[in-house]
Amino acid sequence: MVFSHTQISQYLRCPRSYRYRYLDGWREKDTRAAMVFGRCFETALGAYFQGEDCAAVLFKEWNVFRDTAFQYSKGESWDRMLHQGAHLLQRFAQDNHIRIPHPKNNLQVTFTRNLKGGNDFVSYMDAIGELDGQRCLIDWKTTGSRYTEDPEGLLSLDPQLICYSWISGIPDVAFVVFVRKHLPEIQYLKATISEDQRQDFGRLIEATVGQLESGQFPSHSGIRFPQNGCLSCPHLGLCIDNQKLIEKNLIRRPGASDLDWLDELVD
Ligand code: SF4
Repeated sequence: MVFSHTQISQYLRCPRSYRYRYLDGWREKDTRAAMVFGRCFETALGAYFQGEDCAAVLFKEWNVFRDTAFQYSKGESWDRMLHQGAHLLQRFAQDNHIRIPHPKNNLQVTFTRNLKGGNDFVSYMDAIGELDGQRCLIDWKTTGSRYTEDPEGLLSLDPQLICYSWISGIPDVAFVVFVRKHLPEIQYLKATISEDQRQDFGRLIEATVGQLESGQFPSHSGIRFPQNGCLSCPHLGLCIDNQKLIEKNLIRRPGASDLDWLDELVD
């Protein structure tokens, strides 16, 4: 089996949700504009580092979805997101904080690590480069609101960054957060992951894969207000037997897919 951070984090959040998605084949529909826009924006960023016209690439990629019936957040539209994206690209170039040497090799980098029992773990990193001259792993994020920066050090607990550091052995990691709002903002958030954290994460992965392989899929429902994880879970319709919600959010690909780890490419 090949595991990814997406799979493991979904299992840790709720094993039942993991079963719905990875074993029963229930997948979330691609109807959220922000998610699809994020992919287009990352393609444009790749073009920027290759010395191409990144604004033109953003338009070309996003134009494919001009007439798609997406769910837009309040106040958003196809046009507005395009303008926000173009401003962010311009701002990113002006900031000039990030350098990616040899972009062909250092963008969308794949790391694979062997686990016990013949399993593998795979991660796709957005970039390996320099932030203000310091070598680090970089993950791009596009979002409608700022990431919380307080208290200081919070980012070093981010499981995705810990995972990237664990699989690559590189301690310095960063999120570059493109905030789509009226006045576009880019956050450059750095963290250093310790050797202890990497070792802990390795143990967590091995233990989680063990539970997965023993077929344990209890539901971890989050029914407490206000942090109710079920509300943002695409599988909520299945758990409360609500056909309308199922049809709205999910499509079904019967059976498990060996290619589910490819999801990691679009996270
Ligand atoms: S709705 Fe809640 S209990 Fe059901 S799969 Fe999702 S997170 Fe788990």
